Amino acid sequence: MMSEPFTDEPARLAALRRLDVLDTAPEEQFDKIVALVRTVLGVPIATVTLVDAHRQWFKAHHGMPVTETPRSTSFCTHTVAARAPLAIADALLDPRVADSPLVTGDPFIRAYLGVPLITADGHAVGALCAIDTMPRAFTPAQVEVLAGFARLVVDELELRQIATTDQLTGSLSRRGFLATLDREIARSRRYNRPITLAVLDVDHFKRINDAHGHPAGDAVLRQLVACCVRTLRPADLVGRLGGEEFAILLPETDERAALLTIERVRCSVAAADFEIGAGARLRVTASFGVATLGHDDDANTWLKHADLGLYAAKKAGRNCVEIISSRCDDQAA
Ligand code: GH3
Ligand code: MG
Ligand code: MG
Repeated sequence: MMSEPFTDEPARLAALRRLDVLDTAPEEQFDKIVALVRTVLGVPIATVTLVDAHRQWFKAHHGMPVTETPRSTSFCTHTVAARAPLAIADALLDPRVADSPLVTGDPFIRAYLGVPLITADGHAVGALCAIDTMPRAFTPAQVEVLAGFARLVVDELELRQIATTDQLTGSLSRRGFLATLDREIARSRRYNRPITLAVLDVDHFKRINDAHGHPAGDAVLRQLVACCVRTLRPADLVGRLGGEEFAILLPETDERAALLTIERVRCSVAAADFEIGAGARLRVTASFGVATLGHDDDANTWLKHADLGLYAAKKAGRNCVEIISSRCDDQAA
């Protein structure tokens, strides 16, 4: 299989990194676009493909047996190289892809239409693809339709980057939470008001995914956030730091009150029945680290201290709260 030259490959890969999307969980907006492509173009297979250094990875896919393949077997790498729509009416007759395992084996691709995903700063990071298992020619109108959907995909990729809300749980995103943290630190110092931060991490979350599947894990995360929000006051803030790790910010709350509050959250989580579909329910616990705001803390050092508490809580056997108190380095300073 021939490979096309990539003149700006390092810059292209940097743009892909900035999107911060590789290896993330499926998200509804991309699944919906893939479903629309299948319906509108009448194809059995459609994918949102990101072309990484050595692989192609599917942010959304329907009809593909795998979530990534080596780049060498990829159709989309040619679309990205061309930076223009690529139509292949019969893969068996095209020397670039005829020997790809995706053609000679499952899913037995015969026809391909790909439109590059070009970011606002001009980098082709991947492709939106419509794929058939029968040879077929795509009409110019169909290319136009797919190009329209490709622009939507790029919009969504860029939106999810600046989003302050986490798509899965509705909590603040990491970005949104960190921005709020900076503001709240400044406010607490200006008015000399107490403020406390907690981080939580779900205990043995990997087992939930392994035993019940990723969607069940997602359902647990959504309900976990709802459970925290129900237990907290309206002024308190919940943010998703990443994966199954969350932060809770308690403005106007000193160490003693924060410990009581977080202990209440811990109990609510441990007592909740989380629905994971088909009438099944399960219980989970979480571990918590709590830290008051130190004198010289910025958002990062504060989070680090709360993380130390979390680490201690995990070590202490999980399903508990550990605090890093008003710290001696503050008194020494
Ligand atoms: P521990 O008690 O030590 O925290 O154990 P753990 O299994 O929770 O820890 P670990 O960090 O090893 O596992 C976290 C798992 O969370 C691994 C990852 O696949 C999963 N995960 C991360 N983000 C998501 C998500 O958005 N949805 C689902 N379902 N799983 C996720
Ligand atoms: Mg974790
Ligand atoms: Mg965990």
